[in-house]
Amino acid sequence: MPVEIPEEDLYELQARLRRRDEEAPLMVTDLKQWIYCRRILYYLTCLPDVRPTTYLMEVGRQEGELEESRELRRAFSRYGLENGRKEFRLHLSSARLGLRGVVDMVIWLDEEQPPEVIPVDFKFSRTVGAHVQLQLAAYALLLEEASGRPARRGFIYQIPLRKAVEVSFSAALRRKLEKTLHEMRQVMQGEQLPPPARKFSQCAVCEFRRFCNDVSPAV
Ligand code: SF4
Repeated sequence: MPVEIPEEDLYELQARLRRRDEEAPLMVTDLKQWIYCRRILYYLTCLPDVRPTTYLMEVGRQEGELEESRELRRAFSRYGLENGRKEFRLHLSSARLGLRGVVDMVIWLDEEQPPEVIPVDFKFSRTVGAHVQLQLAAYALLLEEASGRPARRGFIYQIPLRKAVEVSFSAALRRKLEKTLHEMRQVMQGEQLPPPARKFSQCAVCEFRRFCNDVSPAV
């Protein structure tokens, strides 16, 4: 069921999508669209008058804000931790990575030796897909750079299941993220239309379908 978004919020969101920060033009949330179809990033960044459908993003945002108030009462044991310090909706940016984002929650383990930082993403989802892990790893890189502390793991908090799933930031996941970010930057700089999605079923429900004349049920 679509959520009604006040018109001024919609304009603000659209403006934000277009107002790509020059130092950090990629947003962590872009990784989700990238995994779905590479063309979406192209349309969002290279075409001047694309109007994104936003209600799904809005649903996620509203659920995340609700979760924040629940999280204030939640024990650290839910994350397998004894204690820590929670910080919500931390804005992060890196000129080196060309990336920025707002992580739902950060757990600071100040007493650990060495001190550790743990990103937590609230998801209204029952699965932990590839794009979710990449997003979490992206927050980890941003946090490491901003704080100088290592981020060895993070958590996806699955709201419907009330369950925290630990994700280890392995060397393989970090390499995959760096490679993905490099490819995304190339699309933004080169302004070349990437290939279409692998399955037409993705196109059939895509809000950018009207721009893709080269896709058909035979794709
Ligand atoms: S219609 Fe298909 S190819 Fe075009 S942006 Fe959407 S998913 Fe990608």
